[in-house]
Amino acid sequence: MAQFTIPEEERMQLYRFKADDFTEEERDKQHEIFHGIYGDDMECGGCGWSQLYLYVLASSMEAARKMLLASEAGLCGECMCDLLVEMGYEIDS
Ligand SMILES: [Zn+2]
Repeated sequence: MAQFTIPEEERMQLYRFKADDFTEEERDKQHEIFHGIYGDDMECGGCGWSQLYLYVLASSMEAARKMLLASEAGLCGECMCDLLVEMGYEIDS
């Protein structure tokens, strides 16, 4: 399996979001672009299904939030696991 090695300072962490984590204003703005936050659900950027939680792999919580709000990231648990497997990511505690 391919190894995916990145420098220590660029190590990424998995962050989990639900619709409540965003303000009304952020939700409205985000809704205008590709995958959106609808009520209590958020649409997975992979499979397109409505999900309670979306996961983002990023270097910080703030970066993860920005990526999700820009529709650059945000996958359901199953799609995120597929990505981790396909990219051969290793997990450190
Ligand atoms: Zn998905």
